[in-house]
Amino acid sequence: MQAKFIFVTGGVMSGLGKGVTTSSTARLLQLAGYRVSCVKIDPYVNYDAGTMNPVAHGEVFVTDDGGECDMDIGNYERFIDATMTKDHNITTGRIFMDVIKAEREGKYLGQCVQIIPHVTDAIKDNLKKTAERERLDIMVVECGGTVGDIESLPFLEAFRQMALELGRQNTLFIHVTLAPVLDVVGEQKTKPTQHSVQELRRIGIQPDLLAVRCKTPLTPETRRKISLFASVDQSGVISCHDAPSIYKVPEMLESQGMLRTIAAGLALKRSRPRWGDWKKIADSFSTYKNGKVRIAVVGKYVTLPDSYVSVYHALSHAGASIGKKVEIDWIDSEKFENGTSISTLKGYDGILAPGGFGKRGSEGIISAANYARENNIPYLGICFGFQLALVAFARHACGLHGANSTELDPHTKHPVVDFMPEQRNVHDMGGTMRLGGHDISVEEGTLAHRLYGSTSIRRRHRHRYEFNQNYLQAMEKGGRIKLSAHSDKGRRMEILEVPGHRFYLAVQYHAEFSSRPGKPEQAFDGFVRAAAAAAASQGN
Ligand code: GLN
Repeated sequence: MQAKFIFVTGGVMSGLGKGVTTSSTARLLQLAGYRVSCVKIDPYVNYDAGTMNPVAHGEVFVTDDGGECDMDIGNYERFIDATMTKDHNITTGRIFMDVIKAEREGKYLGQCVQIIPHVTDAIKDNLKKTAERERLDIMVVECGGTVGDIESLPFLEAFRQMALELGRQNTLFIHVTLAPVLDVVGEQKTKPTQHSVQELRRIGIQPDLLAVRCKTPLTPETRRKISLFASVDQSGVISCHDAPSIYKVPEMLESQGMLRTIAAGLALKRSRPRWGDWKKIADSFSTYKNGKVRIAVVGKYVTLPDSYVSVYHALSHAGASIGKKVEIDWIDSEKFENGTSISTLKGYDGILAPGGFGKRGSEGIISAANYARENNIPYLGICFGFQLALVAFARHACGLHGANSTELDPHTKHPVVDFMPEQRNVHDMGGTMRLGGHDISVEEGTLAHRLYGSTSIRRRHRHRYEFNQNYLQAMEKGGRIKLSAHSDKGRRMEILEVPGHRFYLAVQYHAEFSSRPGKPEQAFDGFVRAAAAAAASQGN
């Protein structure tokens, strides 16, 4: 069976929610009973997202097979509840690497290697192979960037060729654009959409559907005008107005008959979604019946909320499941090194320390981890937040003065967090951390075991440093803390907890990547419940 392909391109400008349109389209098709998955194309030259600054590009999403991917992969996983592989994120770097490798191996002997056909063939092969391997009915392919970017040209050209080769009933184009309104009572402007569709046509692609971002629903007049100028039937002009939550977008698309239009274009038999409990789950993100819970996220990359986007979603999944809106304050940990008192964290129901790299701001996180432990405030530490909770405990409860991670102080007297031995001979920075899913054994009778309800779990990782077990005895002495889970046959510790504390859990893995709407990840679930209980006990 040949898979069908839906290509999602972007017009006008970035940040219109192409990822949510892609995920929601995939979700609708999945609810109609199709085997669907998504692929994100990032036209930048990096091989993957692993070496990019999270404050500039957003979070690096880690797949179970160890891919360091664009954050859109996280949206896909959350919407279609799938575990994706790194093949679902294609960059120019990856394609060129394949092509150049093949050229060096002599696979193109005698030929001049060119963008067309060699690079475009490599793109098409990549997409087709993934669709085939996963036996997909439909693959939704999102191309990053905006039409007109030089970098995306080879990819759009590959899409055009696929439409030609596979035929119109096997390919469909959705273009995401914007209908801005310039003043409060003003009309919705269609010119940007007209221009970006023209740009797309210039390279040989005529869109079948337009997903038009707008503040309020598209007026019939705007729809008519866009339809006329873009040569897209009115049924294919979809209003993507502001929604109370991203999880409501599939319903918004469907209320305009999107599935019927896609089914007609791709000659699909089923065109009705079976919603199951999806609508109820989506509603839980806008109808918070039980008030709110206030969380301080103390981290290094707070200037761009996207740099912790999966942490944000995992918190909101946990909150929505108990009817609580999670109100997050993103706090720069460096503040606590520059005069702001750590006791300003007092007013929060919970403190979360997320992942991070490098010295700047690390002392602030150590102070926050210690403050949460000493003041019985629910704490969740993730990766860096786990390592620095260990440092805080070593310094403040075990008398190990000057304890640190060797990442932050290579000459520390007490390296309670140290380089993983196998990292010592690693020189390349890209793709060389301990990455992806690893099996973890959880000790019975611990908080971790109560949360997970199992002695064996699997979670994703992205780190070079780990707890130095030479300090295990000193740290666990007296039972004040407990390292309650391990992996790689006991070689690495994965969870730290503080018995008797309201909730103090820190994990070496990235729990946030495994959370789904309606199915919050257990560490986040426990944390938000504990924070809600703490708020209730204080009458907040
Ligand atoms: N910098 C730490 C390490 O490399 C933590 C990484 C992280 O938080 N993802 O081990």
